[in-house]
Amino acid sequence: MASVQPRTQYSGDIAPALLAHYDRHARDLPWRSPPGTPPPDPYRVWLSEVMLQQTTVAAVIGYFERFSASWPDFATLAAADDADVMAAWAGLGYYSRARNLLKCARAVVTEHGGKLPETSAELARLPGIGPYTAAAIAAIAFGERAAVVDANVERVTARLFAIQTPLSAAKPEIRAAVDAITPAGRSGDFAQAMMDLGASLCSVRAPRCPACPVQMHCAAQAIGVAEGLPRKTPKKARPDRAGTAYWIERDGHVWLIRRPDSAMLGGMRGLPDDGWNARRDGDSHPPFAADWKAVAGEVVHVFTHFRLTLRLAATAAPVDESGLPPGEWWPLKTLDSAGLPTLFSKAARLAIRASAKS
Ligand code: SF4
Repeated sequence: MASVQPRTQYSGDIAPALLAHYDRHARDLPWRSPPGTPPPDPYRVWLSEVMLQQTTVAAVIGYFERFSASWPDFATLAAADDADVMAAWAGLGYYSRARNLLKCARAVVTEHGGKLPETSAELARLPGIGPYTAAAIAAIAFGERAAVVDANVERVTARLFAIQTPLSAAKPEIRAAVDAITPAGRSGDFAQAMMDLGASLCSVRAPRCPACPVQMHCAAQAIGVAEGLPRKTPKKARPDRAGTAYWIERDGHVWLIRRPDSAMLGGMRGLPDDGWNARRDGDSHPPFAADWKAVAGEVVHVFTHFRLTLRLAATAAPVDESGLPPGEWWPLKTLDSAGLPTLFSKAARLAIRASAKS
């Protein structure tokens, strides 16, 4: 890890001040143990950290509670049906996480006797666990002195050390700074205290510095640049893609497919479509020849790397169903339980609204 010359004069005092604040103000979250108590169940730490990748705490809490009630440990999750897990993940986004969640649970059961390995180095070899998640699990569940750097911690640290280099070039400097201030003891609490500070007082806009427990150690606050940090490199515009999804209906049922694992939203149920992806538009070829009617309206959905405008075409089921792509009839009345990702939920609502009007 690159060495860092702390720019804040009293960096050694940051951990005690922050931990004292955390002891009084820690967020009460279902995957956490209260400050100063034994660490939480590693399974729950792992599950929450995977869910929290690119996702807010508010969005994760309900999913975490449902998952941990249905599959309370690695053994039950490893034995779960893939379709049930993918459906339970529907709406949380970044679906490769759900596929990796299953792979990881199965690897933990078959290769590690049902228990997570305890070091960040070993954790990072498991599916779906990158350097951040490995560090967070190792620190929170096993007390390893690991530098845990999520987006909140990045912001707090860039400010504490007045790091002016724009993200993402500043990442190594920030990681080294976090390493420099992470204490040997209570490293899990320290990581969570940094996350909490970023989620509360040290917010993106208008940080509340007068109430901050580390205000006296904060270089950005001292020189009046806190709000402008971390600096960001301007984002590239997202490309626009277009595609068509196909609504095939029969007797109060709609035809759903399961998307290939290698496709976007892989492993999830969805409507048949024309092969759109992040790099190209769909080819507008329906899955079989029929009297396809364009459905009025369209769905716009923003993925990380592109923006998709999805049109819909609808038809009744063919008499000969052998031309249908592999899939299943799903009752419209229980479509909410199909576990459709948000894109196809929006498309289904559009089709149902259009058919109610006609
Ligand atoms: Fe963030 Fe202000 Fe605290 Fe510095 S003093 S860490 S900018 S809230």
